[in-house]
Amino acid sequence: MTGQTARTASLCACGGMAVRRVNQFVLQDELWWDSEFSCGSCDTHLCEHAGPGPAPDHVREALLAAHGPARLRLAGAVPSPVPALKVLREVTAASLSRARDLVGELSRDGLVGTLPEMEFLMVRLRARGVPVDIDGPPCPGAASGATGPS
Ligand SMILES: [Zn+2]
Repeated sequence: MTGQTARTASLCACGGMAVRRVNQFVLQDELWWDSEFSCGSCDTHLCEHAGPGPAPDHVREALLAAHGPARLRLAGAVPSPVPALKVLREVTAASLSRARDLVGELSRDGLVGTLPEMEFLMVRLRARGVPVDIDGPPCPGAASGATGPS
């Protein structure tokens, strides 16, 4: 299962420039994220977070900036939207009306998020018989995911 990592610069309490490293990955059938902070100036190394659940915006933004978004699309006709609705409600804790919107997006332009998020959704949707595929980034870990096929 694919995981993603991003590093961002962060100011340490000592005044030095520190590095925050964030990861998002699937572990034991759950979507996890973690965050580590390390400062070379004062030798601080902290694990700020490690656990399952939706990643906060700053983590998602760092991953999206580093790797580009992935898009999850319906890959075929589904007889009923109910299985997809169930999965989306479970995974995103969305209301029923929000889940309906998400299923609508899935069947039109696709849902966009980080690659681990979309892979996590894809596995669950496929397990319920919903055919889905992920579009790009073309190569996981590619430094500049913005280049299309030429
Ligand atoms: Zn420091």
